[in-house]
Amino acid sequence: MTYSQPETNAATVARDPEAIIIAKGVHKRYDNDFHVLKGISLTVNKGEVVVLMGPSGSGKSTLIRTFNGLEPYQEGKIEIDGTEISHNQKGIELIRREVGMVFQQFNLFPHLTILKNVTLGPIHLKGLSQDDAEAQAMELLERVGIAPQANKYPGQLSGGQQQRVAIARALAMEPKVMLFDEPTSALDPEMVREVLDVMRKLAQSGMTMVCVTHEVGFAREVADRIIFLAEGELVTDTTPDKFFNNPEEERIKQFLSQIL
Ligand code: ADP
Ligand code: MG
Repeated sequence: MTYSQPETNAATVARDPEAIIIAKGVHKRYDNDFHVLKGISLTVNKGEVVVLMGPSGSGKSTLIRTFNGLEPYQEGKIEIDGTEISHNQKGIELIRREVGMVFQQFNLFPHLTILKNVTLGPIHLKGLSQDDAEAQAMELLERVGIAPQANKYPGQLSGGQQQRVAIARALAMEPKVMLFDEPTSALDPEMVREVLDVMRKLAQSGMTMVCVTHEVGFAREVADRIIFLAEGELVTDTTPDKFFNNPEEERIKQFLSQIL
């Protein structure tokens, strides 16, 4: 005898204890009525590294931004570690502390030193003392190889160095999840590796990561899963091996022919 699964929504879905991001049927339209996310459902488990790929304009940035409350959506549900992203300001602020984000443009505060860039969030949002925040920041800057530059300003650092500071700054909030939106796309080629190395180490440390990137070497080596988006739909959610070596969908073959 077979049972058909009833229609469910996130409120009634049995939760996998290891799931940290659960998205169910997420739809988003921009104000001009452009339907950018067309019912995205996915789960990211604790400690997983998921790479999000897809053609330009497919909705990758929009999707990843919904995971930290930067992007409102109209239908569906998103939960981060059991907390639903609700559209009230308090819920969104809570989520932003738990979900770190690194952007293509590093978005450091240009008028603050590297050290201050990293301590600002912990002091103002987490209530750390300046001494504690600085000690933590120096450890993180050490970890990303920027400790000697702690008292410089962002403009005095290379793009790769600034991006590593941006990672340290996000980590200073002790997030449960790190989101990366094309973190190496704005970098000169020789600086891509130093940022990917930091991301690789972070993955090895057990951090849950969702990364939009077209860095195939990184995706093959570090990702547990590749999710491919096209035109606002999730086309596939599979292993790197299957994605790169045995793609079934024509849209994926076409995409790969452009990036490989
Ligand atoms: P990707 O990151 O995959 O390149 P985006 O999520 O940035 O895609 O964009 C997906 C689609 O949504 C694109 O067609 C883009 O033009 C459109 N879009 C992005 N931001 C806005 C906005 N603020 N208003 C209207 N349309 C937008
Ligand atoms: Mg994008």
